[in-house]
Amino acid sequence: MMNGFEEFALSEPLLEAVRELGFENPMPVQSEVIPFLLGGGGDLIALAQTGTGKTAAFGLPVLQRTDLSQRSVQTLILSPTRELCMQIAADLKDYSCHLDALRVIAVYGGASIKNQIDEIRKGVHIVVATPGRLLDLCRRGALDLSTVGTVVMDEADEMLNMGFLEDIDAILAGVPESRSTLLFSATMPEEIEKLSRKYMREPKEIVIGGKNEGTSSVRHIYYTVRATEKYRTLKRVVDFYPRIYGIIFCRTKAETQEVSDRLIKDGYNVDALHGDLSQAQRDNVMQRFRLHNIQLLVATDVAARGLDVDDLTHVINYTLPDDNEVYTHRSGRTGRAGKTGISISIINLREKKRILGIEKTLRQTFEAGRIPTGKEICSKQIFNLMDSLENVEVDDEELQDILPAVYGKLGWLDKEEIIKRLVSLEFHRFLAYYQDDEDFETEQDGSGRQRVIVQREEGFTKLFINIGRMDGMGPKELLGMLNGCLRHEVEVGRIDLFTRYTLFDVKDEFADEVIFQLSTLKLRGRSIKVSLATDEQIDRGNKINQKPAGGKKDGRKKEWKKKRPKK
Ligand code: AMP
Repeated sequence: MMNGFEEFALSEPLLEAVRELGFENPMPVQSEVIPFLLGGGGDLIALAQTGTGKTAAFGLPVLQRTDLSQRSVQTLILSPTRELCMQIAADLKDYSCHLDALRVIAVYGGASIKNQIDEIRKGVHIVVATPGRLLDLCRRGALDLSTVGTVVMDEADEMLNMGFLEDIDAILAGVPESRSTLLFSATMPEEIEKLSRKYMREPKEIVIGGKNEGTSSVRHIYYTVRATEKYRTLKRVVDFYPRIYGIIFCRTKAETQEVSDRLIKDGYNVDALHGDLSQAQRDNVMQRFRLHNIQLLVATDVAARGLDVDDLTHVINYTLPDDNEVYTHRSGRTGRAGKTGISISIINLREKKRILGIEKTLRQTFEAGRIPTGKEICSKQIFNLMDSLENVEVDDEELQDILPAVYGKLGWLDKEEIIKRLVSLEFHRFLAYYQDDEDFETEQDGSGRQRVIVQREEGFTKLFINIGRMDGMGPKELLGMLNGCLRHEVEVGRIDLFTRYTLFDVKDEFADEVIFQLSTLKLRGRSIKVSLATDEQIDRGNKINQKPAGGKKDGRKKEWKKKRPKK
């Protein structure tokens, strides 16, 4: 099969490596950058987030342009953190695995400078460095930059955020002016424009996903709550997504530690990452998180900088950052490498204005989230367990020695009793907590700007029912109807109430049954009609949601508050 990279003029050893890595087709940033650089190129500014494939975009052409007959430094790659340095160097080693003579080194602070000097003395072609350590090496005379032909500044906006501008100035002063300069950045603040004016000549500008824009693979949801409800909201949000793997961002070290301590005490698999920890402690936490041994990381922006993980399902802003571009960075950590993600912000009423500002920066709309009820959370968790139970791979051979003893011990329990006990065992914490924790709602600002967007959720089917608020419909009533006509639990997702009708989500596999069973009911003599929600019905709902509600703040009835999980 033809590999998409073959359309570029890449050498066979590089193509071979790309094939071995399983890259079949170039990612958008690669399609733009690789031909430009291989065709002679020049200076380049590429606006692209981490996770878009930018390392291979600059790495493959840089490797191809390296003259292996010379043992001199030909490319300098600057990166803000030691973790990113190590990552880039490791990627370049992967791409050059069939170029035996090629030598790449990563140099960064916090590691022995003597070892790095020894390595450099053996001769290197590509140096990947943090600015501070690089300057140190130059000042000690260990590194000669006079032969450098290409400088790459990766995550340039982060380097400036971290105060490396002066170091970058000093470094570039030592590199020949004839070099080409490639700048990669997730955002384009004024300082980056200044940097490019100062050091680059007519750079080609490539934008992946829009200038200063968040990735559209990320949904942005905000919950407006009172300060006293912030932590409870966090717990409900986390509980509502049983397979969550994400970062909870806080603003200060103290807040980070406090939130992490509370979550640990409440039985969550989390740890904290902030600047009061030693480098060794931080490395340990990051490694456990990368390995998914920790499900949630509570972190400050600065401490999380070194962490590069591609498969986060969620980012949670426990406190909003002051700077909108920091929000872009935070949310860009999810929805990477072709996946989708959710960025959640827990805010207070005063911060609603901030959301508008961030929406402008991102050019994306936020959804107003509804705090899940205890019942919804428990059923989501239970269905997740059921899913795992159904899909677990059973290795009969592995179990054959222990199963007879297990059967002997549990043989007296019938199937239903075993299921009940399994659920109690797994869900005691949730059931006990949500039996006592009364449901609560988001705060409203009275402006009527309650922009809940009706969307189709993955795994759920959206249904239409021809009764709405005017008929006394509420979540409690809907759940009551379902409980009344179905013999088993059905997982219900989002419910959007309108005056004359309601849209609600049920797990795909129950949709037909729910349509059939509810359609047999009557309300005060009127036939109830239930059907798959059409795009027009969803659009109509969205238009209604965006209209000022004229004093009526929310369609949800008061009973919502009182809803408790069944005992
Ligand atoms: P980066 O933005 O360079 O950190 O890359 C993000 C992830 O995408 C890394 O895990 C890369 O190995 C992977 N990747 C880069 N290019 C491709 C490609 N063309 N096809 C599939 N995966 C890729």
